[in-house]
Amino acid sequence: MDTNINSFLNWSQDQLAQAGIFSPRLDSEIILSHTLKLSRVDLRIHSKRVLNESEKKLGKINIKRRQMREPVSQIIGHQEFWSLDFIVDKNVLTPRPETEILIETALNCISPGTSKILDLGTGSGIIPVVMAKEVSDCQFSGLEIDPKTLSIAKENAVRHGVADRIKFICADMRKEDWSGIYSMIVSNPPYIPSTDIHKLMPEVHNYEPIKALDGGLKGLDFYRDIIPMARDRLEDNGYLILEIHHSQASQVITLLDNLSCYKNVEVVQDYSGYDRVIKAQKGSPNG
Ligand code: GLN
Repeated sequence: MDTNINSFLNWSQDQLAQAGIFSPRLDSEIILSHTLKLSRVDLRIHSKRVLNESEKKLGKINIKRRQMREPVSQIIGHQEFWSLDFIVDKNVLTPRPETEILIETALNCISPGTSKILDLGTGSGIIPVVMAKEVSDCQFSGLEIDPKTLSIAKENAVRHGVADRIKFICADMRKEDWSGIYSMIVSNPPYIPSTDIHKLMPEVHNYEPIKALDGGLKGLDFYRDIIPMARDRLEDNGYLILEIHHSQASQVITLLDNLSCYKNVEVVQDYSGYDRVIKAQKGSPNG
């Protein structure tokens, strides 16, 4: 019997449900629309359209990948963030909605004096790309240790027309090999405690780059390195803005306070009420 769009979707929904996938119908539709290069609305309109042999084969391969818990974003090769479409692959952490809070906080700190903004561990490049689209008169830098990851970030900058305003630097954010003086330094560093990595969903711990997630024993290793280094690379009153795990606010605040060179330390919550971002300004805490 012929397989049409509707019968393929029913079959794939069953397969994914049996594999314990949380949203089997939605994932089936996204994967089939990617496979057939049709929108999800088109799948509905043309539900009786028959799949040819190669479409069926490719569709099944893609559903099998999802059954094995590969994230949808890696199967289809892109992910929406800030209402923009970003290229992703296994070399980058798929953009998470919580990082929108980091960007909103950073955008709120921009003033006429803000000129240079650095993102440490830029990954897919979402932070400088979104910020460059939102503010036209700042220069951005995105630093990333992995050249394969950096090439995805560059592709995203080109895709969104901001490549001329972002300097991408291949370097280790934990070493003293980044230079310059910045008005703002932002980062979504790896912050999951090493011992918790195996507790993450299989989609994450089997497919996403662990080095973008693993923040050492307590998840704080990167903050320990970034916070003192940023002090020497921020202008006076410049901002350091960090995404955190919701359990880490007090420890990260202690790291900032211990240096006695950051002021106006604030915690920003996400829309679920969890601590998500810490912002601080370079300057003496005592005025
Ligand atoms: N928010 C990510 C997660 O929970 C972690 C991101 C990070 O370590 N920077 O999967």
